Amino acid sequence: MSLAAAFVRVSTGSQDEISQIEAIDAYAAERGITIVKTFRLRGYSASKGTQEPALRQAIADMERGEYSTLIVTESSRLDRREDLDAQAEILLAIRAAGGDIDAIAEPTFGKTDFAGRIATLVAQHGNAEKSRLGRNQTYRGITMVRNNNAHHGPLRSFWKTRGSRYHRQAYCYDPSAVNDIYERVANGDTIASVARAYNLWPESIKAVIRFAANHTGVVECSYTHEGVTETWQHEVEPVVDSELWWRANRVLNANVTEQRANKGGRPVARPTNWLSGVLDCPECGGKLYLNEGRLPSGRLRTPKFRCNGNRKERLACGRFKGTDARPVIDLVSAMFANDSTEILAFQRVAGNAHELDALKASLRKLQARLSVTEDDDELDAMVAERKATKARIEGFVVVPDSYAYAPTGQTVAEMWNDGDDTVRRGMVLAVKAALRLSLTPHGDRWGLRVDTAATEGAESTIVDLGNGLCFRR
Ligand SMILES: [Zn+2]
Repeated sequence: MSLAAAFVRVSTGSQDEISQIEAIDAYAAERGITIVKTFRLRGYSASKGTQEPALRQAIADMERGEYSTLIVTESSRLDRREDLDAQAEILLAIRAAGGDIDAIAEPTFGKTDFAGRIATLVAQHGNAEKSRLGRNQTYRGITMVRNNNAHHGPLRSFWKTRGSRYHRQAYCYDPSAVNDIYERVANGDTIASVARAYNLWPESIKAVIRFAANHTGVVECSYTHEGVTETWQHEVEPVVDSELWWRANRVLNANVTEQRANKGGRPVARPTNWLSGVLDCPECGGKLYLNEGRLPSGRLRTPKFRCNGNRKERLACGRFKGTDARPVIDLVSAMFANDSTEILAFQRVAGNAHELDALKASLRKLQARLSVTEDDDELDAMVAERKATKARIEGFVVVPDSYAYAPTGQTVAEMWNDGDDTVRRGMVLAVKAALRLSLTPHGDRWGLRVDTAATEGAESTIVDLGNGLCFRR
């Protein structure tokens, strides 16, 4: 049977007291805990810190061993929330007296890594304060923007704002381009070809077409502050006729079919091979993609690397005629699969401050356990352990932490052979970035070249694999 005290705090005129006591009684009965004392604080505002004498009394009771647990409905009953230093101090004192706090609504409160939790609390509080301050300041600015019916929010291509802060006026700086885009799309040009003509991404062209302000002359602005969204209308000069706007949008709508609807999940474009889209076109500098699959006749095509231009325009240069993929893939594979260079990781190579932290934590745990242990033998063992831990803490010599690249025990070949396509792709890209992996003429065919010029002078080049991993070549 364990003993506990209930801690109830209510503000004046509140009906909350009975419900708190009922909750605590039910909680105690369920766990076979006997409530030996009840602290009732009425009309005490926690934010004035006046409940402290009662908490001090509870700590003294715990030190005498009268009970080991203080039960509250929520941790906020214990202390004012704003002053986390005071809260931390009280919680630590209860813990040091060998006591514990049970917060019914927060089962993990004070249970796991106590000191760490306090640190987190203080940090969270600081962060919340700071961001609230920032949000309020931003909101004051937005209120002025709204009162002026000025512009706030994102704009489409060919649109800009001018004017002073809080008075921003949106305008289209190239109406003829916008009109031309609407005309082209309305007349059935592909989005990709229009995008190419204006050096934009296809999605940006669609966004221009969908932008209602282009024909209505009104931009809907909105801002959400503490869950309330306010909207206002910002007037602009319209750019296209409504008739043209509708014609172009109808073309886009025609493409929205059942088959193209988002069926959920993350739309990931999977490369057919880890080398597809990695190597540069030797002629134009675009990317080479693996071209494989079946011919219209149904026969398998010989896999080839072909130029597909850059990612934005996706236009082959026509000068690079393609090369058989198999030999290139085999060459790159062989290069990695037989490389016994060690993978290095950025890690702690010296320093032991973390061991001291662990010792201190185990001492706190021992102290807490000492007051609740009844068994004499166990108690003797714990006292001895506590003595030993204290001695180790006193004699502890802190070695400052230092970090460096050190071997992980894995080689490039092991990483390559164990890795999936994503890992391999990452490794090839890392080598390409560090050593300029490229295709080079080799008689009448294309060979692979790893640039050693980068390593001249220096002993080795670091190939950065990301995630703190690298290797030297
Ligand atoms: Zn090319």
